[in-house]
Amino acid sequence: LVQLYMPLNFLGFVYREIKQSLTDMESMFRLLRENAEIEDSAHARPLDLKGGAVSFDDVHFGYDSDREILGGVGFTVPAGRTVAIVGPSGAGKSTISRLLFRFYDVHGGAVRIDGQDIRDVTQASLRRAIGIVPQDTVLFNDSIRYNIAYGKPGASQEEIEQAARLARIHDFVTGLPQGYDTRVGERGLKLSGGEKQRVAIARTILKAPGILIFDEATSALDTHTEKEIQVSLREVSRDRTTLIVAHRLSTVVDADEILVLDHGRIVERGRHDQLLAAGGAYAGMWKKQQEAAQLQERLATELA
Ligand code: ADP
Ligand code: MG
Repeated sequence: LVQLYMPLNFLGFVYREIKQSLTDMESMFRLLRENAEIEDSAHARPLDLKGGAVSFDDVHFGYDSDREILGGVGFTVPAGRTVAIVGPSGAGKSTISRLLFRFYDVHGGAVRIDGQDIRDVTQASLRRAIGIVPQDTVLFNDSIRYNIAYGKPGASQEEIEQAARLARIHDFVTGLPQGYDTRVGERGLKLSGGEKQRVAIARTILKAPGILIFDEATSALDTHTEKEIQVSLREVSRDRTTLIVAHRLSTVVDADEILVLDHGRIVERGRHDQLLAAGGAYAGMWKKQQEAAQLQERLATELA
């Protein structure tokens, strides 16, 4: 019986290991598939990052050839400035952030960083220059420390903790029995959407890249935590070129320019007060969100 038990136990171990690597491989293949058609061109040079100015020049794109998602999008984020993209779900906001990271190539027009077409630079140098906090973060099946330090290989524990503090996740981590050694991901501790977002934010703060992309980076957080993190995000994005895709408009009021995207086209653009004065789509969205916030507050007081 002992002889039989041992191999079974061992098989269980092997099975778990295989399943684990399959999970890792699955996410790897998913990434590779997304990048399948993207290759460095023969003459690709490393990106010469200066201020990190980003420009989209009449960009056309569709995931399938028969359906255009972006129909001629043009905007500039001057070096060190912040541009926000807002608009209904499905408008193409995340697509813009994916194109800047070059998960896909544009079908028309060009995306440039400091004047260089991103198709002419190496992908490694491009991705080093950009930090992205995506809409839904997938964590590695590894420790929290690894997941944060991934932003900066070789980072010290002190640097990791500093980033975690700014992302308001440090106290949560130290409250876990194994602290920063806690394994997360499919196989480890399941983190909530908000906790995952904060790990991703810590990773990006640690990476401190020249260009930042926040794609609804705080959408899974409660209003209170979001407000706290906004302070940190404003700190990291100061002097860094930043593209914010925002869900709650309260997070974009300070942007140097706000683009309202609808069906893959920019339908309004300007600063917050200009857009409010214009009384168009943005003003309508703003009014709706203000009313919803007031209603929520009133409900909270009545329930208290
Ligand atoms: P937003 O971020 O504004 O909500 P997205 O940029 O994610 O919008 O999506 C824009 C459109 O592109 C949507 O109609 C969406 O269904 C479609 N889309 C997004 N990702 C893919 C994909 N990988 N393959 C095919 N269509 C996609
Ligand atoms: Mg999106």
